[in-house]
Amino acid sequence: MKQLRVAAKIAMHQAYAPYSEYQVGAALRTPSGNVYSGGNVENAAYPLGNCAEASAIAAMVLAGEREIAEIFIMSKGKKPGTVCGGCRQRLAEFAGPDIRIDCGLESGETNTYTLGELLPHAFDLKETKI
Ligand code: ZN
Repeated sequence: MKQLRVAAKIAMHQAYAPYSEYQVGAALRTPSGNVYSGGNVENAAYPLGNCAEASAIAAMVLAGEREIAEIFIMSKGKKPGTVCGGCRQRLAEFAGPDIRIDCGLESGETNTYTLGELLPHAFDLKETKI
């Protein structure tokens, strides 16, 4: 977990958030042991911004991997941020409900969840097929 915390911290400091000044870094580990990280990337046209989790998932997918084992998300602020609704579904695309999700601050304060706690009824395309 320390490795993910460090990778998320580095990503947070590299994040591009000139508008909100709310930098976020995410680092995920796959079952193979590889770590992929990403930071939020804002845009002057606000809806075009990317969350840190989406950036980390994109790095994982581009490397040919398709499964998340755990993820650490670090943000600035007084309290650890949590995962936005959209990213909960993004994580559910590549992870089961039992994966560990740590949301922390640089100070060390961390809240731990499972994906199932954050998104108990994820949209699953398999369940929509007749
Ligand atoms: Zn998000």
